[in-house]
Amino acid sequence: LAGREFKPERTVIKVRGIEIGGDKTVIIAGPCAVESRDQLLQTARSVKKAGAVLLRGGAYKPRTSPYSFHGMEEEALEILAQAREVTGMPFVTEVMDTKNVDLVAQYADILQIGARNMQNFFLLREAAATGKPILLKRGPAATIEEWILAAEHIMAAGNHQVIFCERGIRTFETGTRYTLDLSAVPMLKQLSHLPVIVDPSHGTGKWPLVTPMSKAAIACGADGLMIEVHPCPSKALSDGQQSLTEENFQKLVEEVAAIAQAV
Ligand code: PEP
Ligand code: MN
Repeated sequence: LAGREFKPERTVIKVRGIEIGGDKTVIIAGPCAVESRDQLLQTARSVKKAGAVLLRGGAYKPRTSPYSFHGMEEEALEILAQAREVTGMPFVTEVMDTKNVDLVAQYADILQIGARNMQNFFLLREAAATGKPILLKRGPAATIEEWILAAEHIMAAGNHQVIFCERGIRTFETGTRYTLDLSAVPMLKQLSHLPVIVDPSHGTGKWPLVTPMSKAAIACGADGLMIEVHPCPSKALSDGQQSLTEENFQKLVEEVAAIAQAV
């Protein structure tokens, strides 16, 4: 179902008037995690002003350490919904567990399956059943074929609205948090009709690399980007090192627009 031989024309996913996989580059932005109402509303307003069309923000966070901040859960969903009301931006947020799928789907416009859950097939099926578009992140150790098959699980469950998100894979390199595999973008475009976006924030783990890799992602054919932005990255409760300031995000949007025009 995910293959181009099954469907030669490109899939365009529409979310409240926004097209993902269409002619325009789609920029999704927001904090790693919702930390407070003020933090989220301020970030939402500022990324919208800079040119983002979709909001991101974690409510349930998959953290490596059990002692790290794990998200504000349903309160965060309610804050994200308020930000949507205020800015008009639809939002994407991660669902980590089958038991929360219905709750998250009551609020979110797009359900994110995190990298750590790419092959959690029960979760994929439950998320698919909501009928909401699914943003499917690549597992850090997943091959492209495994990733496509994960999308196939969602589609076989009756939901054909899948967006691939490259977010970096594990390699021997330790200079960056992960190795952003941009070759996955043209590869997926050749193999599948589904939209492909890139998350250079998690993919590099380092904010100074986010804008250069965003430009590269658009140059090699990505349909969009997902970028972490925080009003004060040094105070972020998660992923501050890879989060852009509002000012740097605005510059990113401008630089990416120039590349998008050229391709
Ligand atoms: C995220 O985007 O919030 C996230 C946790 O990313 P990943 O699943 O790619 O690590
Ligand atoms: Mn993050």
